[in-house]
Amino acid sequence: MEILIVGAGLGGLAAACCFAKDGHHVQVFEQRDKLSPKGSGLMIRPGASRILQSWGLGDAIEHGADTCLPFSIRDLKTDEDKIQALPASLTKYPDWGIHRPILQDILYQNAIQAGAEIIFSSVVEDFSDEPDRRPSLQIRGGKTITADLILIADGIRSRLRSKVLCDISAGWSVDPKISESVFYGVTVPRQQLESDNDAALLLQQEEACVWVDNERFVVGRKPRKLEYWSGLFGLNYDDGQASMWNEDGDIAFVRQNFEGMCRSLSAVLKLASKCDRWKIAEMPNLPRWTSKTGKTILLGDSAHAMEPNAAQGLSQIIEDIGVLQTLFLSYPCLDISTTTIFWEYIRKPRVERIKTYAAWNTRMFLGKKDRVGLHSKYADTDWEWIKYIEPNSAADFNSPAFFKWVHDYDAIEETHKYLEKANKTRARF
Ligand SMILES: Cc1cc2nc3c(=O)[nH]c(=O)nc-3n(C[C@H](O)[C@H](O)[C@H](O)COP(=O)(O)OP(=O)(O)OC[C@H]3O[C@@H](n4cnc5c(N)ncnc54)[C@H](O)[C@@H]3O)c2cc1C
Repeated sequence: MEILIVGAGLGGLAAACCFAKDGHHVQVFEQRDKLSPKGSGLMIRPGASRILQSWGLGDAIEHGADTCLPFSIRDLKTDEDKIQALPASLTKYPDWGIHRPILQDILYQNAIQAGAEIIFSSVVEDFSDEPDRRPSLQIRGGKTITADLILIADGIRSRLRSKVLCDISAGWSVDPKISESVFYGVTVPRQQLESDNDAALLLQQEEACVWVDNERFVVGRKPRKLEYWSGLFGLNYDDGQASMWNEDGDIAFVRQNFEGMCRSLSAVLKLASKCDRWKIAEMPNLPRWTSKTGKTILLGDSAHAMEPNAAQGLSQIIEDIGVLQTLFLSYPCLDISTTTIFWEYIRKPRVERIKTYAAWNTRMFLGKKDRVGLHSKYADTDWEWIKYIEPNSAADFNSPAFFKWVHDYDAIEETHKYLEKANKTRARF
């Protein structure tokens, strides 16, 4: 099959890697002139790590990543534990913590080795997707390329999304929803941390930790294999800036707004000389992720960007790709339009539930109203028993049953279950 991908972000690269390995002819068009080095820490959740392992990337990722416990929550002012790190025994697949450029490089190298073509400085201006014709991309400069399937992985600010959904009647928003929170990313080298007794305490903090307070929080970790501490300082604040990300956040502003934190975090902010800035946003639920013909699909943040506070955005994209791959492998003769409809049907409910959970987590971390519930339920839970608990997507966000559904999920097995059910129903008629 010939597959065209718009965008060489982590989503586009992961799809290129998976489908090129399966022998498809894959071309990726990226508007930048090279891979973007932006961003620091990233978690890869067990639902995604099991899929990345099945693509043969486990060893390469293990080499650069740490295996982490899910998380712990502390008080921002006192540094006291509110919820201890949850047990790793929840699933046999790892929760990886990795530096974003390292993962990007692994996906890029593997995609190239598998035969994908990644074409930089190529802006996709438009696409065409009419019934009874192969869909095509129009590249700036006049070139048009056709394929069997187009994956639009051009990120939350997708310019092609509205065209994929152009037949949808009024009442749906297809634009990102900007939240009230801003993240400031700070990275401080180990050597500098060691020069300060308070900041040096953070070197012992190798598991991801969230420090919560009212209207502000910090998520941070010292990667075991890297020589720095990195943290995101989250603030409920409308900074009035239109851009979603820029390199130059205002570190003096961050220091001022994070006064009164525990000793270690105050010290690390004093040592930091700069920060970057992320305006947090999500995509509202879309009516569809597929074009009317089903031969073009929105993939990744262009379909379902979510707030980062469940650390699930990329992991859900990997699950999406794993499910699409399974459908192609299981039904190679099925027409693409039916396959992508199955795909959307399987993936949308899970992703949208996790997107809501991610936004709920932001409210928790900012000390909003249902936080008390979170603490009492989580704190009272005997996590050793979680292996006997039935996962439940509909359970409360603060219940072990929901936590288990989010973290210990086998998207491939769920796909096979769905196909079995669909076959039985078909056989009955
Ligand atoms: C602060 C922060 C922390 C996060 N932490 C985690 C985490 O721990 N775990 C996790 O799973 N997820 C996390 N996420 C989410 C994750 O980073 C994203 O879901 C993921 O990177 C999105 O990838 P993407 O490829 O869909 O989009 P993008 O990375 O936005 O890539 C889109 C690409 O398309 C290109 N492009 C756009 N338009 C065109 C065009 N017209 N022609 C050609 N190219 C084009 C762009 O240049 C870009 O390279 C986090 C997000 C944020 C903001």
